Formats: sequence, structure tokens, C-alpha cells
Amino acid sequence: MEPAGAPPQGCAPAREAEVPPGSPALPTEEPQGGQPAEPPPEEAALPAVTGRERCRRGVGTQGPGGRAARGRGRRAPGRRGGEEGGRAARRPRVTVDSSKAKTSLEALKISLRQLRWREFPFGRRLPCDIYWHGVSFHDNDIFSGQVNKFPGMTEMVRKITLSRAVRTMQDLFPLEYNFYPRSWILPEEFPLFVDEVRMMKDSDPSWKPTFIVKPDGGCQGDGIYLIKDPSDIRLTGSIQSRPAVVQEYICKPLLVDKLKFDIRLYVLLKSLEPLEIYIAKDGLSRFCTEPYQEPTLKNLHQVFMHLTNYSLNIHSGNFIHSDNVNTGSKRTFSSILCRLSSRGADVKKLWSDIISLVIKTIIALTPELKVYYQSDIPAGKPGPTCFQILGFDILLMKNLKPMLLEVNANPSMRIEHEQELSPGVFENVPSPVDEEVKVAVIRDTLRLVDPQKKKRKDVQCQTLEHVSEAKEEALEAGPADGGEGEGSRGPEAGLPSLCLKQVFPKYAKQFNYLRLVDRVAALFIRFLGVKGTTKLGPTGFRTFIRNCKLSNSNFSMASVDILYIDITRRWNSMGIDHKESGMCLQAFVEAFFCLAQKKYKSLPLHEQVALLIDFCEYHLAALDEKRLVCGRGVVERRSAGVSGQTDGLHLTPAAHTPLLSRTAAASKFADYRNHRY
Ligand code: ADP
Repeated sequence: MEPAGAPPQGCAPAREAEVPPGSPALPTEEPQGGQPAEPPPEEAALPAVTGRERCRRGVGTQGPGGRAARGRGRRAPGRRGGEEGGRAARRPRVTVDSSKAKTSLEALKISLRQLRWREFPFGRRLPCDIYWHGVSFHDNDIFSGQVNKFPGMTEMVRKITLSRAVRTMQDLFPLEYNFYPRSWILPEEFPLFVDEVRMMKDSDPSWKPTFIVKPDGGCQGDGIYLIKDPSDIRLTGSIQSRPAVVQEYICKPLLVDKLKFDIRLYVLLKSLEPLEIYIAKDGLSRFCTEPYQEPTLKNLHQVFMHLTNYSLNIHSGNFIHSDNVNTGSKRTFSSILCRLSSRGADVKKLWSDIISLVIKTIIALTPELKVYYQSDIPAGKPGPTCFQILGFDILLMKNLKPMLLEVNANPSMRIEHEQELSPGVFENVPSPVDEEVKVAVIRDTLRLVDPQKKKRKDVQCQTLEHVSEAKEEALEAGPADGGEGEGSRGPEAGLPSLCLKQVFPKYAKQFNYLRLVDRVAALFIRFLGVKGTTKLGPTGFRTFIRNCKLSNSNFSMASVDILYIDITRRWNSMGIDHKESGMCLQAFVEAFFCLAQKKYKSLPLHEQVALLIDFCEYHLAALDEKRLVCGRGVVERRSAGVSGQTDGLHLTPAAHTPLLSRTAAASKFADYRNHRY
């Protein structure tokens, strides 16, 4: 995890008065709080310079002069006058509120200059197209546009929540989810941890494990320590007040220059529904600063040997700042791949394993994210849409298998680092490696969520009846990748090709079978009832059982209530969220798994769960159909002037949109009769 960013510093006041997009004739908007709202035209026209170019030219000197110099050099496309300039001037520019960008501000500013979009560093009275938040989604004033954070993401990727979400998937698909180290949640699973370790040691006396204890919500290696035996856990008062995850320590990591390193990869979750995931083609590798040795009681405490956190290793005398992406304590991931490839490693397979790890992890996170989403942005109410850049921390094992360490909701987007000039005197200096990777990720995220590109795409789709897949892809990639119909004069002309590669839905076919919990979450959300809640009440749970026809002589409604109370009480006693009472999604998932095991005995769990989902979806589709027919009947009777009762069924189309058409549900449901209680 990474800490929340510090407040933005050194936001240069913008000077050009704002004009609402697309309304050049409207009066200019008053700058807020006496602050001008937009960089002057000549500054806005500053040329787009990539991080790589700057690093080659050595631009980016420290201080205000250096900052002002950012982006100078090449003339921006579309500002060369003539027809091209005319087109660009007519096109309303995308507006971005950067007032909450915090530590990502510098990289965002460079990206916006490269794109020639309008930045509002102090916010704006009119709505913006995009709101760039440094920390979290929360902002009750946003009713439109897009926000670069999903509600609930920070909670979802905390160490305990992530471990739980991955464990649910490991229960269903153990082989597919073996990229996450075996983990236990403290303090509640301490007895389980002790028992399981003892059993494993008994069955394999040669197993000499090491474990890593990580406080929940900790970041930058804070509070992390290694142990050799469960009895070494510091079960003092603090573990009660500060829950943690204890995890099997990966003892044989891949080493480069005898050093342990991890990979930070940037992943864009562009949309939750439908699921859209992109991965940045390059990331960062963060190196330890002491040569690695497998853990022994003697070296367990050597953080510079075992922990790859930049924030820790920067304090080591061995830390090497380098302007070269191939050397130093922080390098690009591509430089590592080059090196591995030259050693004959199968780099293609490594990439495909990484893509698979990323997709599977996001599949584990989406069910709960959807619950948060419907709670914060209820369907049918005005609200923004969301996207988010996530930081995946991955460790490569000696055999090149990637292992997930954690996911960061707020990966650091700083492009400067602190350098100690003399003892106690620090200065922020540009970090070319960070800038090269991070500016590209932010800029290309913006290009992918560009609302005007979407509009242009919609128009094209309307006019062209059959847009070929190839054309779609070209559109997605932008003109730099092959034209957008505007040739090289398009708004993105001159920009490098996208650094973000779509992996979902591109590989959806391979991974969709894993999305079972997503479907369980859809059932949960349907029965939540009152919009804005995240927990299911006892009545909602009973309605779910009744509507899905899950109760029978073997499973009475009294047993349903007992199941609800037992599971809900246990989950609520774990102290995750006391704000609301009721059954959380994880508790519902556990209850659902229980029901599935009871109903379809002697099958693997994922098959039991899949069958129960089909069964529920079938009955709900049938119910929806019945309601629709009744509703239609009512409408017909009403329009014919016949008064009649509605037999107590209410039709609210949004709430009762069938989850599945009945025909589809029926074919999926065909098996279930063979697997009754
Ligand atoms: P934080 O959020 O505090 O950075 P991480 O989970 O990223 O916590 O762990 C910090 C560092 O510890 C990682 O960067 C990695 O070097 C090391 N680490 C974490 N988990 C493991 C593990 N299971 N095996 C080996 N090393 C690990």
C-alpha cells in the first residue's frame, strides 16, 4: 500500500479566463477566489515532450524555472495554424479538475499539456469532464463526468480485504489462484495458522518456512517483520488493535545483480460494468540494496535485504539514483525483461502469466466493488462514472512465476525524488525513470477515457452500420496507432502510441468462467432493496430464498433464519464495518456456498456454486417474466378502461430487469434436476 499523497504544492496559477466547452461565444467565467482558471494560451500551446525526450535532453531542472520549462521543445500538434489549427481551435477541449490531484499533480500537468486539455487547478464552478483525485472517490458534489477513483477501492485493496477476496476465489479455483501466497488473517485466524503450519510441518519435516507479518492498512513496509515460527508472532496488545495478514514468505525470488526486486505494474480499470482492463506495457522495478540471502534467524531483520520498498531502501547508503532506466535501484520493468530475454528466458510466457494474474485479481475484486458502486452511485441517479489506475506489486520467483504481493489503490505518481545534498539538507529532483513510466500511464489513461473520443466514436458508429473490428481497434488506439479518421491531423497526432494494452474484454473468453462471485453479487444487489445500502437485512435474505425457491421440507424458513443469524453474526464480529447492520457480501457469499454444498452434494465447489447460480437466475427470470406479463395485463386492462387488481405484483422496470432471459436460464438450468438435495 502507498500512503495518501500530500497536498499539492506549487500549483502555478492559471491565467486564461475559462470558456465553457463548446460555447466560445458565451461570456467568460469568473475566475474562482480571485484565482485565474486556465493557463495562458501561449502556455497551453507549449509543446508536448515525452518523458524520454526530456530525459535525453536533460530538461526538467529543479525549481519553478524547471517546472515552467516542462513540456517545451516540440511544437504541439494542431497549433501550427492553417486548417489544422482551425480544427483544433473549434474542437471544445476536455476539461479536467486537478484541484484534488495531490502528489499526482506534476505528472498530470505534463500529461494535460501534452494532450492540450484544459486544466482547472483550483476547481471550477461549471462541471468538468474529468475530476482527478489523488486519494479517493469521495466527493458529494460531482454529478456528471468521470472521476479517476472507484468508491470502495481503497477499502477493497487493504491487505485483509484483498486476502479475503482472493481466498474466496482460491476456495473455488485453487489452481487458478495459486499466484497469491498462502495467507491468514490475524488475530481471528491465529489458531488456524498455528494448526495448519503444524500439520504441514508434520507431513513434510523438510519444510522450513518463513512468514511475513504485515499490518492491515500499513504501507511502505511499515510494521512488517519476518518470523520463522507462528509462536514468534508479536501477539501483544497491538495485534488486537492492529489486525494483520501473515503470509508465507517467498524465499526464492528471482535476483538481478544478486538483489531482490519487485515489479510495480500500472493497471487501468476503465469500467466495472462492462469490465474493461488495460495494462501498461512498462512498469518499474524496485530493488533491495543489500545482496539477497535466503532467510535465516540471523538475517530476518535486514530490511534492505528482504523488503523492496523504495521508501525504505532510499535510506540505505547503497541506494543508487540513476537517470538511466537500465541501472540503479529503480529501473523500468522493460529493462529487466530485456535482460531476462538476453539470458534466454521466455519473456512472452512471463507477460502472459502477468496478464492472467492481473485479470484474475480484478475478477476477485469486482463483486464487492459493484456493491460499493451501487451504494455510492445508485442506478438512475445523477453521478459520475469512474475509472482508476491501480498499482500491482508483483514478485517474480526464481522460476519466473509472478506472485501477487499487493494492489495499491493510490499508486505513487510522483515523478521527483528527494535527494540529500548534504547531511539533513534535502532537495526534490526530477526522476527520469518515474517520469517516463508515470506520465505515459496518466496521459494514456486520459486518452482512453477521453469523453470526446467517445462522442466521435458514437457518431461514427451511427453512420457506419458495420464498423469492422480492425477499425474499432484503430479507434481505440487513437490516431497515433493508425488513425482515427482524422489522419495525422487528429487531436492526438504526434503523441506516442498508447502504452496501455487492453486485456479485458480482449481475453474475456478465457476468464469468464471465473466470474461466479460476480453473479452471486448480482443476486445480492438485487435483494439489497433500499438503494444506498451495502448490507442485506433478514427480510431481504428471506425474499431471496423464497423468490429463488430455495426453501423446501429439508430446509425450512426457520433454518433460513438461523443460517442468516449465524453467518451474519460471525462476519460482524470480525469488526470490518460496524456502520451498517446486516449481512455483508462476503457473508452472503459464504451462505450461498453453504446452500450450494447442501443442494448439490459431492461435486467440486465451483460446480455446486455455478449450478445454484443457474437455479436462482432461472427462478428470478421466471418471476420477472411473470411480473412483466402481469404488468402488461394491467397496462392493457387500464388502457382498455377495465379496472382490476394487480395481484399484488409491482413492476418497477429498472429494479426487475431480468438477470437472464428465461430461455438462456432454462438451458443453463437443465442440469439442476439431476442434482437435487
Ligand atoms: P507495504 O504495503 O507495506 O509495502 P507489501 O505487502 O508491499 O507491504 O510488502 C512490503 C515488501 O515486503 C514487498 O515490497 C516485498 O519486497 C516484501 N514482501 C511482501 N510480501 C512478501 C512475500 N509473501 N514474500 C516475499 N516478500 C514479500
